[in-house]
Amino acid sequence: MNVARRGLIVANWKMHKTAQEAADLAGAISLRVVDHCASVDVVLCPPFTSLQAVHSALENTPIALGAQNLHWETEGPFTGEISAAMILTSGCRYVILGHSERRQRCGESDEVVRRKLSAALKAGLEPIVCVGETLQQREAGNTNRVVLGQLESALEGVPSEDLVRISLAYEPVWAIGTGQTATAAQAEEVHAALRKWLRYEREEKIAQGIRIQYGGSVNPENAAELFAQENIDGGLIGGASLDADSFAAIVQAGIYQ
Ligand code: PEP
Repeated sequence: MNVARRGLIVANWKMHKTAQEAADLAGAISLRVVDHCASVDVVLCPPFTSLQAVHSALENTPIALGAQNLHWETEGPFTGEISAAMILTSGCRYVILGHSERRQRCGESDEVVRRKLSAALKAGLEPIVCVGETLQQREAGNTNRVVLGQLESALEGVPSEDLVRISLAYEPVWAIGTGQTATAAQAEEVHAALRKWLRYEREEKIAQGIRIQYGGSVNPENAAELFAQENIDGGLIGGASLDADSFAAIVQAGIYQ
């Protein structure tokens, strides 16, 4: 982490927890991390059906709420979809976009991620844009080409004044939910490449300010080493965020030392 950027630790609960279970977990996390929030930003992203319950559970705490996805249209005949305004008015400040599970399992293309990003920014949300390579792409030596391609495509047409509301998450697909974490050096190399791209293709100020989280089997044992890297500004946490003690330990590791 770099002192110029505040740490950002985001819980992605994926398709876990009913509304009551999610509210209980939010309460348990809040008790454990609320004192750390002066030094690090903490966000919980439950499923859509738990947004209202978690919003209530987080009332009067500095912990923010986020959604895991949205549809790019504002309204219309899109059965089963949720718009940016619906998310915003459910109390969300953040939204995760382009998660590899959506890219791989729900067929989300770079074009879809771009449209969703545009809708999120228009609505006033703070999007977290995920990029990451598969094991095959890494082994073929294509990691940077893949992640920079995803970044370039997502940010196409996004004006600089909106970029300050975006954060990125580098999530190697082979590390998500597998227990196989990228080494701190592997992750740092990609984070540095993302920041360098932003410096040359956009602006130095944007590159310096944007927060880039690492995601992929982060746990209380490996978090501190990952977060100690210059260009790693926090984490997007899946499995370990479903346990209040584990998530709190990761949040603690995200405080700039
Ligand atoms: C994720 O859901 O974005 C993620 C990184 O999951 P996990 O921490 O379980 O690998």
